[in-house]
Amino acid sequence: MRLEDIVIVLVGTTDPGNIGAAARAMRTMGLADLRLVTPRHFPHDKATARASGADVILEQAGVFDTLDDALAGTVRAYGTSARLRSLRWPVADPAGTAAQFVERPDGERVAVVFGREKTGLTNDELARCHALVHIDTNPAFSSLNLAMAVQVLAYEARRALVEPAATAPEEPEVRPATLDEMRYFYEHLERVMLSSGFLDPKNPRHLMRRLNRLFNRALPDHNEINILRGLLSAVEDHIDQTE
Ligand code: SAH
Repeated sequence: MRLEDIVIVLVGTTDPGNIGAAARAMRTMGLADLRLVTPRHFPHDKATARASGADVILEQAGVFDTLDDALAGTVRAYGTSARLRSLRWPVADPAGTAAQFVERPDGERVAVVFGREKTGLTNDELARCHALVHIDTNPAFSSLNLAMAVQVLAYEARRALVEPAATAPEEPEVRPATLDEMRYFYEHLERVMLSSGFLDPKNPRHLMRRLNRLFNRALPDHNEINILRGLLSAVEDHIDQTE
């Protein structure tokens, strides 16, 4: 399935600003097919303003009298709900739902249906859906803004359906320090610790073993070990001069 095959259906939206914000959420994630069922005000300046340039989604949005009309041509419908309703419908989270999208062939359309700001979707409308999607929330405050719920679903769909962008060009490869380079470094370090008086040979307190662990944990590369060796040499020169 492709992102273009996902249909976002908004049912009975009261605030045209939410329609615009939903269009923006869709466009940022690469979705395009918006269908509106009996919106209270549409088209509307507030919708255009909140779309912030995602106008193309609003211009192409279909407006329908019933949910059934809006679902025409789709093979699956997922109803979103802020509340976990009865067990009559299977409930998935957004990532689980997106994982189901991945299974479907290109060109098959699936709908994700969003409800009214105040009352959500009716049981009748949910009955049109194959499954429920619930975004995990604070149980004491579980209702997201409509467009934000669209954003979460669209983001998960994108994550599941789009190949991760080619990773940023890596920094020129530096080879890891070899074990003998590490051993010379530790020997050098111990010499400097002794000559500076930091390490008391009569009371070594496992200091070398601890520093060994510290530097091994850092997985230094060849250049970094060279820097540390340079530092140790500079300290040695300084000690020689002051003696
Ligand atoms: N009181 C309403 C809240 C509706 S919020 C209710 O209980 O359903 C408006 C719409 O945003 C919801 O119909 C749903 O489509 C979406 N939404 C909000 N919070 C959500 C959540 N936690 N999980 C899934 N969808 C959510």
